[in-house]
Amino acid sequence: MRLVIPLGVICFIVVVTGALLLASQNLEHARQERQLVSDTLWAEQAVVFELQRVVEAMQSLERDFALSSQSEKYFHVRAAAIMQRSPEIGRISLWQDHGDNDKLHVIMSEGASAAGDALTTNDDELWSVARKAETMRGPAISLLQDRKHGVHMLLAVTTYLDSTRQVIVASISLDQLLASTIPWWFAHQTQLTLEDFEGNVLATRDHHVVGKGVYTHRLAAPFADETLYLDADSTLGPPSLIPNVLTLSVVGMSILLAWTVYALWRDLAWRTAAEKRLRSQQAFREAMEASTITGMRATDTAGIITYVNQAYCTMVGRSTGELIGTLVESSRDGATGCSVRAEGSAIQKALEARLTRSDGTSIDVAIFEAPMLDGTGAVSGYMASVLDVTEQKRNASLLSAQNERVNRLSRLITMGEMTSTLAHEMNQPLTAINSYLSAGKNLLEAAGHDAEHSEAYQMLEKARYQAERAGLVIRRIRQFVHKSGPVPGPVDMTQLITELLPLVRLQAPRPDSVIELDLDAACPSVIGDRVLLEQVLLNLTKNAFEAMATWPSADQRVIVAMWRPEDDMQYVVIEVRDSGPGLGEEANAILSSSFTTTKADGMGLGLSVCRTALELLDSRLVYGKSPTGGASFQFRLRSA
Ligand code: ADP
Repeated sequence: MRLVIPLGVICFIVVVTGALLLASQNLEHARQERQLVSDTLWAEQAVVFELQRVVEAMQSLERDFALSSQSEKYFHVRAAAIMQRSPEIGRISLWQDHGDNDKLHVIMSEGASAAGDALTTNDDELWSVARKAETMRGPAISLLQDRKHGVHMLLAVTTYLDSTRQVIVASISLDQLLASTIPWWFAHQTQLTLEDFEGNVLATRDHHVVGKGVYTHRLAAPFADETLYLDADSTLGPPSLIPNVLTLSVVGMSILLAWTVYALWRDLAWRTAAEKRLRSQQAFREAMEASTITGMRATDTAGIITYVNQAYCTMVGRSTGELIGTLVESSRDGATGCSVRAEGSAIQKALEARLTRSDGTSIDVAIFEAPMLDGTGAVSGYMASVLDVTEQKRNASLLSAQNERVNRLSRLITMGEMTSTLAHEMNQPLTAINSYLSAGKNLLEAAGHDAEHSEAYQMLEKARYQAERAGLVIRRIRQFVHKSGPVPGPVDMTQLITELLPLVRLQAPRPDSVIELDLDAACPSVIGDRVLLEQVLLNLTKNAFEAMATWPSADQRVIVAMWRPEDDMQYVVIEVRDSGPGLGEEANAILSSSFTTTKADGMGLGLSVCRTALELLDSRLVYGKSPTGGASFQFRLRSA
């Protein structure tokens, strides 16, 4: 179809132009023909009119000659006048019949042409024409061929004068007749001949003018008793196909138009092919873009986004429509890359930035940008490829945290070794202290009465208890180090907690911090290890006070509670709760792993130790929110 329309138009233009040219040629032909016909008609009328005029002049001469009493002089004067006005007349003669055997005699004659001689020697011809004129009672003509002088016409007019038959005969040269009646401008472009019925040429207007036979016309010119034929043949050739400048310019313009249509069609075909190529390239590019996982983003020089690919949309969780036309996130503020765009070069350094997704979360990305140059070489915008490096960064930070933990672990191992040595070394001095304190007590008892109630004795007793406890702790540490398990046995928790209270108080940041005990007196003893349980309670209360360190003293409240659960009376539940902030988002991480801490100087071991100790006692540390919003740690122990 694309080929048919332009070809159709071109053919149409060619056909119409050709048809117009042919039509104009035909029109010209017809016009020339009409012109020739009208000219020939005019010439015929001129010839016939001249002959009629000659007839009238001869009739008038005849009449006037009779009135002038047949004056010879009068005849000559009038005849000469007629011949002067009509140069084609060679001679005028007057013939009379004297009644002698119908014989005519020349009475008078004017003019001396060779034709006159011919007439005198050709009476028969004269006689017949005169007789014809008489019979017809009007003019009669007869043609006389003369080799030397061409064809002559004898024109006779008959009258009767006192019963005498009288005939006036004019000898007319046909060549002269044509020359005097047909003007030069007509003869100049048309070959004009007088012919008889059979087509024999009687006279020619101008022998030098030869017709081309293209425009011809033959016209009958009836006169008197004869019919002559006027034959016109124009010297003009057939009309040319391109007769004038106007037609030439029309043809030229048509060719130009056809060429323009062709050029347009060629251009259109080229464009269509180019468009097709462009479309396939576009499809190729789109497929390529869809397959890539790298986000692509183009911006103008003002930072307005002009293009994004599917991967970029997925990355930031927004649609193309939402992104196009918006200002690119001013992520460069938080950029860590130094030179973002190398001037005029495609080699770029990566820019690290943080983009906000539609759901409010943010992702870490690495952006590589290259300038886009327009036709003049000026920077018209930037094309950036964007890589999501969130996972990479998270892995990197996890790795560094792991490293940190490994460092801490190695420190702890060292510390463990030191503690083990310390415990070993401390055992001797503690035993010595204990012995000295016992000796001191013994001395006091020996020194006086009621020494047991004296203040000094009491203090020595308390010091001995603490030294014993220290020894116990050290023994537990040694046991722990030597992987010896706990020593479960019946433990009176009310007593344990009450006795632990002074140590707990020592951990409180301020002296007026509140420590409440909510112990159910009906609770039986439990199966456990005294030292481990003390460690657990000390760690939990220590954490509780540290969580409320910034609270006003009055608000720092730690409650240690104990009760028997109704669902299982075989157990006793011990709870340490506080009025602090409780564990935040990281609760799960803290409870399930060691070394997780939120404190600057924390080790993340306290809860881990509690967990391990309770597991050794077949129990489990459970975290929950206290009614005041603070942390609540609980564990169950089987009653003894
Ligand atoms: P550390 O005390 O050395 O940080 P822990 O294992 O004892 O190690 O505690 C781990 C983390 O648990 C603490 O850093 C703290 O953030 C949190 N935590 C423990 N107990 C409480 C509590 N009662 N209230 C609030 N946060 C607590």
